[in-house]
Amino acid sequence: MPPIGVTKHFNYLVVGGGSGGIASARRAAEFKNVTVGLIEKSKLGGTCVNVGCVPKKIMYQAAHFCEEVKDMGDYGVEFEGAFKGFNWGHLKPKRDAYIQKLNGIYGNNLGKSEVEHISGAGKIIGDRKVQVDGKIYSTDHLLIAVGGFPVWPEVPGANKGITSDGFFELETLPKKTVVVGAGYIAVEMAGILQALGSEVHFLIRHDKVLRNFDEMLAQAVTDELEHSGIHLVKNSNVKAVRGNQPNLTVETHEGHVIDGVDCVLWAIGRAPATKNLGLDNSSIKVDKKGHIEVDEFQNTSSKNTYALGDVAGKYLLTPVAIAAGRKLAHRLFDQDKEHLKLDYENIPTVVFSHPPIGTMGLSQAEAEEKFGKDQIKIYQSKFTALYHSMTERKQMTNMKLVCLGPEEKVIGLHMIGRGCDEMLQGFGVALRMGATKKDFDNVVAIHPTSSEELVTMR
Ligand SMILES: Cc1cc2nc3c(=O)[nH]c(=O)nc-3n(C[C@H](O)[C@H](O)[C@H](O)COP(=O)(O)OP(=O)(O)OC[C@H]3O[C@@H](n4cnc5c(N)ncnc54)[C@H](O)[C@@H]3O)c2cc1C
Repeated sequence: MPPIGVTKHFNYLVVGGGSGGIASARRAAEFKNVTVGLIEKSKLGGTCVNVGCVPKKIMYQAAHFCEEVKDMGDYGVEFEGAFKGFNWGHLKPKRDAYIQKLNGIYGNNLGKSEVEHISGAGKIIGDRKVQVDGKIYSTDHLLIAVGGFPVWPEVPGANKGITSDGFFELETLPKKTVVVGAGYIAVEMAGILQALGSEVHFLIRHDKVLRNFDEMLAQAVTDELEHSGIHLVKNSNVKAVRGNQPNLTVETHEGHVIDGVDCVLWAIGRAPATKNLGLDNSSIKVDKKGHIEVDEFQNTSSKNTYALGDVAGKYLLTPVAIAAGRKLAHRLFDQDKEHLKLDYENIPTVVFSHPPIGTMGLSQAEAEEKFGKDQIKIYQSKFTALYHSMTERKQMTNMKLVCLGPEEKVIGLHMIGRGCDEMLQGFGVALRMGATKKDFDNVVAIHPTSSEELVTMR
């Protein structure tokens, strides 16, 4: 029997049905006699499925075709009619239908796993007590996996623009877009819109994008953005957005005026969704940015209460949230797994830029600062992939290995170029196993590929 006033008591209750929450809830439900509830206020699947990785990658594939179709003639591939361009109205409903199907699959999977899906916004009203639509649920263990949302800037006229969420609601391709931001979401969206045929003006506050990545990557991707025809406006800060749709004017403090704009896309960061969660009713601590503070085991400052994924603010990536969620479920409910935790070192990351980035481990600057310059050896390679030997459109491939000490342990791997997105996962296994440069060299190259460069660098 649940305590008085409580509708139901669970062993494990999860707030947030996104990547981390669903993974953790379903894994916990695999263990005998563990009752699990999951509260979701919106569509199941969270950011990744609805307004993140999945629809983004579909748009990226379309953008990729639009780029490569230009190369086909260079290879002697001929069409009877001319290439007409991208039909947004064809892909958008198809993409939406696929995502709706995924929402259904997630719902079914929860049912199959015997996780009780509670629909509504959860509010914490006490230690391990959550209220949803007037009903109170209590639990032995509470997981908070509520993710985050895109931030809006505080400039006049900001609300005339959209964020990445709005990008997925667009019914047509904007003719002229201003993208503001310099992180991976800004880079990806600017690249997609440009390749699909929008005129893109990309406003960045400094002289490079992705400034927290290895310097080689930041420079190379900035060069490629400019090279692709995107109007990159460096050292610029938006002052105001004026006018009305579809004829907006974006002004910067530095005197730039971009008019005739039908889409302003803010991609200036994300914030944790902790505001209306009722954290004040608990002893859960948050940091200055509102992220829930957790230790290495995802424990918050409140007993038997955990947080993971974007709301905890470390590596905002779907597989990170999933891995942390599953590990936590094992730690709490499996036999002899009380020390299990996610190791946040060496997490492979891909940016779907044009061309894509694959990166893992320490940047050169981080490695030199941590171990001293004399302990670090860098191997680098810059080349034109064979694919581009026949094409007028050129993109460079850049690769870098950051190696530590006399044994040259590979502690950083950074690359940008055709195929680097798919290349990284396998090399990730090697890095996690502690591979040295010699181990890389001992692998016979696969020819002709770009990845062979990683095992033949001198
Ligand atoms: C445009 C974009 C592209 C991205 N691309 C990639 C990519 O290519 N690869 C990658 O790995 N990651 C990508 N990400 C990041 C990835 O989507 C997130 O890291 C991931 O979804 C985080 O999972 P989560 O479980 O922490 O939160 P989320 O997936 O955001 O889930 C949180 C859930 O909690 C729900 N919720 C919030 N508050 C409450 C409440 N009070 N009660 C009930 N439910 C609540 C929300 O509705 C949401 O469904 C992208 C993100 C964006 C925005």
